[in-house]
Amino acid sequence: MEDWYDMRVDPAQIAKERAKARELRRTNWWQALVQKGICHYCGRKFPPSELTMDHVVPLSRGGRSTKGNIVPCCKECNNGKKYTMPVDEILAELDREDREREAAQGAADDASCGPEDPAQDV
Ligand SMILES: [Zn+2]
Repeated sequence: MEDWYDMRVDPAQIAKERAKARELRRTNWWQALVQKGICHYCGRKFPPSELTMDHVVPLSRGGRSTKGNIVPCCKECNNGKKYTMPVDEILAELDREDREREAAQGAADDASCGPEDPAQDV
């Protein structure tokens, strides 16, 4: 159980952000982006129907459905992520963070200022 350190993202929040993303999809802002047809990742041009909405910071990592965190993404780049279900995404992120965390701990044992360090706000 101790491997499951606090993600601080609860499913309710993810559901809320998903709903916000759906609303954003209907805005002129998003429609204009899709009409432009440029994939955020590969920079190629696609017909609007080929573009999907992507969160730069995944919701499972605390990302929000804001204009700054949402980009158009072609299916190819989206598939490149190989995430078929939200739970896969969460597990993959956890796995990667675990490894990053271990690497960071090995390198800097006495510098306890990781990016995830909680409760340092005064
Ligand atoms: Zn692309």
